[in-house]
Amino acid sequence: MVAKVIPVAEQRYPDSAAVIPDILEAPTGVLTDALSRPLRDLRISVTDRCNFRCVYCMPKEVFGKDYAFLPQSSLLTFEEITRVARLFADHGVNKIRLTGGEPLLRKNLEKLIEMLAVLRTPEGKALDLTLTTNGSLLARKAQSLKDAGLTRVTVSLDALDEAVFRRMNDVDFPVADVLDGIEAAHRAGLGPVKVNMVVKGGMNDQQILPMARHFKGSPVILRFIEYMDVGASNGWKMDEVIPSAEVVRRISEEMPLTEAQANYTGETAERWRYRDGGGEIGVISSVTQAFCHDCTRARLSTEGRVYTCLFANSGHDLRSLLRGGRSDAEIQGAIAHLWRQRSDRYSELRTINTEGLSLARRKVEMSYIGG
Ligand code: SAM
Ligand code: SF4
Ligand code: SF4
Repeated sequence: MVAKVIPVAEQRYPDSAAVIPDILEAPTGVLTDALSRPLRDLRISVTDRCNFRCVYCMPKEVFGKDYAFLPQSSLLTFEEITRVARLFADHGVNKIRLTGGEPLLRKNLEKLIEMLAVLRTPEGKALDLTLTTNGSLLARKAQSLKDAGLTRVTVSLDALDEAVFRRMNDVDFPVADVLDGIEAAHRAGLGPVKVNMVVKGGMNDQQILPMARHFKGSPVILRFIEYMDVGASNGWKMDEVIPSAEVVRRISEEMPLTEAQANYTGETAERWRYRDGGGEIGVISSVTQAFCHDCTRARLSTEGRVYTCLFANSGHDLRSLLRGGRSDAEIQGAIAHLWRQRSDRYSELRTINTEGLSLARRKVEMSYIGG
């Protein structure tokens, strides 16, 4: 008998307080890092909790009954989140994505969306305000999210087959409820709704074609995501990654595809269009075609730490500055300081030394800093 190895996930590695430099850099709307990448996107995790236990993200063996989620007092308040978002917007962030955990579990999330919706870029434009959800509560909440000022949603759905989906979410959640959520989001005007499917070899890759057939010709844009080695708990192995090129090949064999132009520089998804006019799909090749050179994203954890990479092993604590009476100028100076020093390009380095690097690195969990 082969013993099962249960990996231990410690997501909250010791972090460093964000440093306030002696000379404070005032925001100009453009802040570039050590590799000349501007700061443009902020992903905000509003909770580390989730009602799913997706096997590739929050496996039950690790995130069980006794798992210590963050206490309420650790969470940034809506006022604190909005203040941080405003300071990031002054530095050039024009897109905010709310994530988690499952963001719709955060109480009164609509209130936070209302507060974020009034923020403006230095040019006076509203921010692109989106959210990634597992869709379980979306049918109920789509309209109130739209009314609060949300622009669009992305819904995660890994299979249409009931047994496969339930095996992946591991809490027996039915496909139909997520499909209802997608439909409600579309009706509420939160479109174009994007659906993300993480493809894990041997688990749901036989669902690639059924998913493509289902959403072809609909207003939904389906995107296939390569299974990534995030965190320390999913026991990632390279041979479970189905490369995007293979996904495109399988679909194209039945429903011919042609490559489409990117919408903007730094777009993570590569776009493919059905030749018969049946819409488009996207592939996100985080493993086989790293896009670090265009990565303009910062992540804010539920308790106020800034991570400059999804694979970072430590964050920069802003909460102590927020709660320590620091001024906007000081916090903006700290944000500028940490972004200026950013040289992360984990996925590109992983391409060079795949499993060695993945195993060697202590990484923060995706459910903690958000996807
Ligand atoms: N709970 C929400 C959801 O599932 O959409 C938001 C948070 S979830 C961490 C964000 C995205 O990360 C989801 O689309 C999820 O499928 C993706 N994700 C989680 N673990 C992943 C992994 N190991 N590889 C690739 N994508 C992953
Ligand atoms: Fe929850 Fe999303 Fe992670 Fe699934 S992928 S366990 S829904 S946070
Ligand atoms: Fe960005 Fe890090 Fe992902 Fe590269 S590995 S794309 S730097 S988050």
